Amino acid sequence: MSPKTQSSGGSKELSELARQAAGCELCPQLVQSRTQVVFGSGPADAALMLVGEAPGASEDREGLPFVGASGRLLDTLLGGIGLSREEVFIANVLKCRPPENRDPKPEEVANCSPWLERQLGIVDPAVVVTLGNFATRLLRGDPAPIGKVRGRPEIASVGSRQVRLFPVFHPAAALYRRPNLEVLEADFAAIPGLLALGPPEQLPAVAVEVAGGGAAGTRPTEEGTPSGAGSGEAAGRPEGPGGDSQLGLF
Ligand code: URA
Repeated sequence: MSPKTQSSGGSKELSELARQAAGCELCPQLVQSRTQVVFGSGPADAALMLVGEAPGASEDREGLPFVGASGRLLDTLLGGIGLSREEVFIANVLKCRPPENRDPKPEEVANCSPWLERQLGIVDPAVVVTLGNFATRLLRGDPAPIGKVRGRPEIASVGSRQVRLFPVFHPAAALYRRPNLEVLEADFAAIPGLLALGPPEQLPAVAVEVAGGGAAGTRPTEEGTPSGAGSGEAAGRPEGPGGDSQLGLF
């Protein structure tokens, strides 16, 4: 099955990365359980990148991120701030759906994170919104729960770049608890202001060399094979409302 990158902005690099990711076999269990790798979608030059957790059943079937119930809410939230999904790049920590909607395993996150780092490196967004615990912990490099850090923009190193990182609840958390929806809407309302600031100041090259590492401290190789944990694949967690996958989200 060919990888889908929905309006990839003609970026050859991103398309090539998607092609490579589609063949990833680093996580044997996920290779068995997935229908296809869900690479991500959006323009290669998006200023805003959203990072979720992992594909669910709908995403696994359609090959696109956030197309189930969480995705419909995400579309509404984006619409509320004058954006459409065609204008943003949407990715997940894991590119494959984990079986039974279970949480991503640490080794799956380690295997898969170099793909995300490559996506971040190519798209080079000014603002990265992490949706829920898994993306937030990975990109902050810190185990603080989303409930403690949401709604607070920070400057973070992602690979060799500085981005405006903005952790928010996962949309699925808002599907389950109405008060979370209000919080999520309020946090989304801050996104246009962050975008208006543009990219943060970048570190000098030497400092980047020392401080770099970004997401989970892993570095993808130049040719696109993730360099993280030996040889790996992506994992992904099912979307969705329902299932204990929600428990880790907020
Ligand atoms: N769908 C996705 O693509 N990612 C999630 O984290 C949840 C649903």
